[in-house]
Parts: sequence; structure tokens; C-alpha cells
Amino acid sequence: MQQWPSHPFDDDKLKEECGVFGVIGVQDAANFVALGMHALQHRGQEAGGIITYSPEQGFQSAHRFGLVRDNFTSARLMETLPGSIGIGHVRYSTTGSKGATAIRDVQPFFGEFSKGGAAIAHNGNITNAEAIRRELIERGSIFQSSSDSECIVHLMARSIQKNIPDRMKDALRRVEGAFSIVAMTRTKLIGVRDALGVRPLVLGRIGGHQDGGWVLSSETCALDIIGADLIREVEPGEMVVIDRDGVTSSHPFDRSSSRFCIFEQVYFSRPDSILGGRSVYETRHQIGVELAREAPVDADLVCPVPDSGTPAAIGYSHESGIPFAMGITRNQYMGRTFIEPSEQIRNMGVRLKLNVNRALVAGKRIVLVDDSVVRGTTSQKIKQMILEAGAQEVHFRIASPPTAWPCFYGVDTPERAKLLAARMTEDEMRDYIGVESLKFISLDGLYRAAGARDGRNAACPQFCDACFSGEYPVAPSDMIEKGFQLKGQSEAAE
Ligand code: SF4
Repeated sequence: MQQWPSHPFDDDKLKEECGVFGVIGVQDAANFVALGMHALQHRGQEAGGIITYSPEQGFQSAHRFGLVRDNFTSARLMETLPGSIGIGHVRYSTTGSKGATAIRDVQPFFGEFSKGGAAIAHNGNITNAEAIRRELIERGSIFQSSSDSECIVHLMARSIQKNIPDRMKDALRRVEGAFSIVAMTRTKLIGVRDALGVRPLVLGRIGGHQDGGWVLSSETCALDIIGADLIREVEPGEMVVIDRDGVTSSHPFDRSSSRFCIFEQVYFSRPDSILGGRSVYETRHQIGVELAREAPVDADLVCPVPDSGTPAAIGYSHESGIPFAMGITRNQYMGRTFIEPSEQIRNMGVRLKLNVNRALVAGKRIVLVDDSVVRGTTSQKIKQMILEAGAQEVHFRIASPPTAWPCFYGVDTPERAKLLAARMTEDEMRDYIGVESLKFISLDGLYRAAGARDGRNAACPQFCDACFSGEYPVAPSDMIEKGFQLKGQSEAAE
């Protein structure tokens, strides 16, 4: 469910909330699932879970707080997850306090139905979950978690369909919003995406194409880690059911054109993943090229805010001819050590994560490339660090348009009033951050970089870009009920 965050080491980024992974037809499936989850760790670091099935021991599960590497590498734990089919989920909690993230909120969820059990792992957000939950509770459902995803299990339980895939279709026809789901029964691995295909899901093959296993994953980088081949993306609105006879595809939802999340291209997905047949790195590099064309500046050095700003900074450097350097180094080992920091450590803020290389930036005019500006707080601190290191000027170039609207499709976003771009013009943001210049890539430029040759228009591939444009492809009905105003509504009310 949508909740607003307060993280101790908030780096002022939108955060993807989940990654899903599943495998069938391999020995010790749990080990493959754990590796896949490890590769998807960037999509959620607070908790993870695995469910497997073996004829001898039935369904077995393990749900843990923390990183995959800290939990699912224990031989003793992995031995409790036998079988040749399994699914996993990594989760980013949208709440700040550990107590608010109960272990019962950690997926995959499991339900025992009249014709056998099923487990599901969900990436996305159901935008009418609260209304469905109220209705189900009135009709007698007893919820175990506070997660929107649990609605799907209860709706499946109420379906009159005989088999699990059909129950799941019934359930998913009731929900609105974004979902990429990996599910399993005793004998089937199931993958399904909402009609708009907002969140990613790919199908892969492992261990030879004749008698190997099958894999479903949020991203292709998790196929690479287990040596699986990408077969294709699960299509928007498609359900794939995989068993010993192979893959059966159906399209249970009304057809509509894809509205894949364009922020996956900018920030969420790993740069070594493939989206829409193209490497994410290549798209991000091209964003930098477009940005250099749209917003040139006279400067001495292009530096990224690592890591996600790096490919765009390289693209900016290539196009502008301004030399590139890693003027900021990121500490990759921000683990759980400081998860509940003392006030003194908390005040060190961004310095715990990022450090400026004085020798590179001193005396120079710096173009600093970042992926996004959300609240602007971290941008201010980074600018300050660069100036303290002796830089002459700082010019911010942002690889996404101004983030002026919250996401309701599975990404953790501050409420609209806290988004800098919802409150200020570009010039005001420049002054607030305190830099010589601040420029964002245009939506057209972003679309061109993502492969739409003529920019954003009706003829180009469509994306969800609601956090930039305020044009939500699915109305966020729970939030509207709570008073959220869509674009144009607040002006109309005045
Ligand atoms: S609102 Fe933004 S982050 Fe959310 S799905 Fe759409 S493009 Fe992605």
C-alpha cells in the first residue's frame, strides 16, 4: 500500500519497490532463485523471500529481512527449500521504521485453494487495493499483511474457476494499476503483466533449449547471472503458464497499447539489462547525448553523480567534447552497519555515500550529471561538496524531466507537495540548489533517447511518464478517494 517514507539515508531518489524471479525445471531451484534475487537486489533491499515446491516436502518458504547475500547463502537455510520449481521476491519497504515492515508483508505470498496451493510475487502497485480490501473484509476475508498484493490471493480464493491460472485471471481482472507477477503451483510457473505492461518481466531459458528449465525475471541481468538465455519479454496483458509441456500464452485482459515505465530506462533498471530489445546503458548514454544537444554549457569537466548518472554523463561528454572524469566516488559498501545511525552519523548525510575527488575538480567548471531531482536536498549537498573541493562553477544537467508528480505504480515517491518541481520553476530550483545553471532533459528528448525518433507524440512508442507529465494511464482511484488531485483539477477548483 502507498505510504510515505522517511529513510535515515535518504538519497533523494525515487525507489523501485520490488523485483520478482522464478524458475522451473532445474535441480535445486532455490539456489537459482537466490542468485536471481541477488541480481535484482537494486529493486529492493529491505527484505526477500523464496517459496519452493517438492513432491516430498510440499511447499516450503523462507522470508527474511535484509539482503539476499546475508540470508540466502546459508546452506542450512537453502536445504530447507528443496524442489525444481521456486519463486522469489525482493522488497523495498515504503516505511521508515523497521517495526512497520512486518515479516508477514514480505513476499512471496502463499494461499491454499481447493485444488492446491499457489504462491505469488508481485512487482507494481494495485491502485484500487484499498477499495477491494474493504469489500473483501466485509465479506469475511481475514488479511495477514498490509500489502496491496495480498488482495490478489483473496480474490483468487473467491474465484469459482477450477484451476489456478484461471482463478488468477479472475482476480487480476478486478484489480487496477501495475503488476508484473511471478507465481507458481506444484507443477506450473506463471508470469503475467498488466494490460499496459508498466513494470518489466522477461522469459528466459536455462540449461539448453530442448530439455532445460524456464525462468521468469523482472530484468535480464538476473538471467545472465544464472547463465540463462533471454527468450522474450512477457507482453503487456499476457499470461504465460509454463509446465513440463512448455509455455502456454494467453491474453486475459482487454488489449491496450503498452505504457511501460520510462523511469525504468532512466534509473530503476540495471544498465546491463535489456529493455525493449535495447541495452539500458545505451539508452542512458543517448539521454546524455540528447541532454548535451538541448542544454550545452561552456565547462571544463563532465562528472556523473554515481552510479546511475554515469552512462548519461559519458554521453554528454561524447556529444559536447568536454572531458569526462569520475569527480565523485561512491562508497559501495553502505550496508546495514548504519541502518539506525546515531545523530552524529546522520548529520554526515551524503558524505557517507559520496566523496569528491579534489584533485580532479579543483579550479574547474564542472558539469554534474544526475538522473533526477526529487526533493533537491541531496543536490544541494553535492553542490556544496564540489564547491568546497575547489570547483569554480557547478552546472547541473538532469537525465530526466522535472519530477512533479508522484508515482502510484510501484515506486516510492514523496507526496506531491514535497517534490521540488511541483513547487518551483526551473529557475527557482536552480537558485534553491545554488548552482550556476540547472537544465533537465525535455520529455521529447527523453523519448528520442528511448527510441522514439520523433519525440513524444501519438505515433511513437508510448510510455508511462506520469511522474513528469501528470498524465496517469490508470487513474489512481484509492488516492483520488483520499483527495489526490489529478492534473488540472486543482486549477479548476480555484
Ligand atoms: S509514474 Fe513515473 S515512475 Fe511511475 S510508472 Fe510512470 S514513469 Fe514510472
